[in-house]
Amino acid sequence: VVNKNGAVIASAVTNLDLHDISRAAVTYGAKSLYVVTPLADQKTLVERLITHWTQGAGAIYNPARRKALQLVRVREDLEAVVEDIRRRSDRPLRPKTVVTSAKKRARAIGYHAFRRMLAEGQPYILMLGTAWGLAEELIEVADYTLAPISGPSDYNHLSVRSAASIILDRVMGNRDIA
Ligand code: SAM
Repeated sequence: VVNKNGAVIASAVTNLDLHDISRAAVTYGAKSLYVVTPLADQKTLVERLITHWTQGAGAIYNPARRKALQLVRVREDLEAVVEDIRRRSDRPLRPKTVVTSAKKRARAIGYHAFRRMLAEGQPYILMLGTAWGLAEELIEVADYTLAPISGPSDYNHLSVRSAASIILDRVMGNRDIA
């Protein structure tokens, strides 16, 4: 991800993001929520949190939270995520990457298109950023870029938690709503 000045950095993991995004992920049927960080202390912190809520006293205290946090896996880089997905998949397919950004970009795919792609059964990694967003070098090599979420205002800088929920609902949510 990048910082305010555009420099590539590794950000700290936000506890609230783990809880909120894992609940959205389990609700919409995502297979896993990967936290990607090369920072050893952040990796340890996330693993401790997950263990508490999935195996510790927290698992008994709140089974719904347990179910959501069981989806969280920590990996040091994207290649490790790709390998993990390949290893766990019945079909030896390399997952395709789909990056997200608040910025409008050329050749972005829309939500209907991504929904149709998901229905075909190919594995996808939906990538969301923290800090000031995903690094440009990552966006450039991704298989697809998703169009930004927008509303009627000219403000569209959502928190990663909100963006994750909105995207999951658009591409995996039931469409039989009133
Ligand atoms: N510190 C911030 C927070 O409160 O979560 C992190 C901001 S980070 C830039 C938010 C991430 O959510 C982006 O990298 C992108 O993945 C996604 N995002 C935010 N706004 C978006 C939009 N309008 N359309 C699509 N994705 C968006």
